[in-house]
Amino acid sequence: MTDHATAAAFGRDVGRLTVGGVPVDRLAERAGSTPFFAYDRRLLTERIGLLRATLPPEVKLSYAVKANPMPAVVQHLAGLVDGLDVASALEMRTALDTTVPPERISFAGPGKTDAELRSAIAAGVTVEMESENEADRVAALGRVLGIRPRVAVRVNPDFAVKGSGMRLGGGPQQFGVDAERVPALLKDLERADVDFLGFHIFAGSQNLHADILAEAQRRTVDLAVRLAGESPLPVRYLNLGGGFGIPYHDRDVPLDLAAIGANLTELVAGPIRAGLPRARVAIELGRYIVGEAGVYVTRVIDRKESRGTTFLVVDGGLHHQLAASGNFGQVIRRNYPLGVATRIDGEPEETVTVVGCLCTPLDLLGKDVSLPRAGVGDLIVLFQAGAYGLTASPTAFLGHPAPAEMLL
Ligand SMILES: *Cc1c(COP(=O)(O)O)cnc(C)c1O
Repeated sequence: MTDHATAAAFGRDVGRLTVGGVPVDRLAERAGSTPFFAYDRRLLTERIGLLRATLPPEVKLSYAVKANPMPAVVQHLAGLVDGLDVASALEMRTALDTTVPPERISFAGPGKTDAELRSAIAAGVTVEMESENEADRVAALGRVLGIRPRVAVRVNPDFAVKGSGMRLGGGPQQFGVDAERVPALLKDLERADVDFLGFHIFAGSQNLHADILAEAQRRTVDLAVRLAGESPLPVRYLNLGGGFGIPYHDRDVPLDLAAIGANLTELVAGPIRAGLPRARVAIELGRYIVGEAGVYVTRVIDRKESRGTTFLVVDGGLHHQLAASGNFGQVIRRNYPLGVATRIDGEPEETVTVVGCLCTPLDLLGKDVSLPRAGVGDLIVLFQAGAYGLTASPTAFLGHPAPAEMLL
């Protein structure tokens, strides 16, 4: 992947990057200040279209709101996906404001408070229970409210997915009930006054290897079939998780979605039809849907030389885009794709280091990047900024104003 390929997805107009057809310098005026995030609704729509065209229709598509909870983005996606997955009460309220019916909203995440569970039960969303204790609390709150909670059991699988940026299953985990303990929990749920739907099994995130993801999906289905065999209650729902990654760095090869589609088609026709005939099957994706549809745009405030290195100092930084600085769980820091948005067709002329405006050496956005020459006032764009950007960054650190977010 090159910066040019990333820029081409958005568009260009007389040497400037455009988002939604509007040149970035015009967007900066419209926002009233830099830095800002801009998301392209056409790219969101196209991404859902690609998923629909490649995955079997039996597999329903959920959007994991935490990847980008901007209400306008969630509203746009709500019209395109089959469900929304939320992980907090605020995300749930954003989801409930859309046209997605409550029964197509699932609420996952450890440490749900009684207040969150009560809202979820009252709203009629599906509570994906992360522990036996949470299951007891959900049943008790349902009795208090006189509402039968819709529930699924999140299962911590008895396998781990290699090659994931973040592992959320296998071994000891704060997520889900260990697979071997699920049969006992299901017996308890049979006696409790809850509407048991099925299982949620999520093994990992940011995976670019189709073969590893496909194997994880096969093992997830096997596990769900096994658990369904031991369940006194019918299994009507299986959330297979997601974990589809996007390329962030030069050498990252994009995920082979066709291979994933072929694998899911086989699973639907084989073990799912045989072992889970009544289950509504869903996958939930965050990053893969929104990550590539967003940019973070900053302005060069200073250009300085220091002992042979040219620094471009911009008015944004890790307080808005922590992941690009390499401090969001990455083991090795590598540059996110970035470019000079106001000279997007320019050839690389020099090697510079782009840093943010925070008073910490961690605030590094691009080390030794080849760019067209940029000076004070030019706009620098960071690509792949649509997921885990603003809301996954320490916005209060150093007290700079919040950036604008625009959906175009
Ligand atoms: C965060 C999360 C997701 C989304 O992961 P992506 O890597 O953004 O696709 C999906 N499901 C659950 C339960 C999550 O916590």
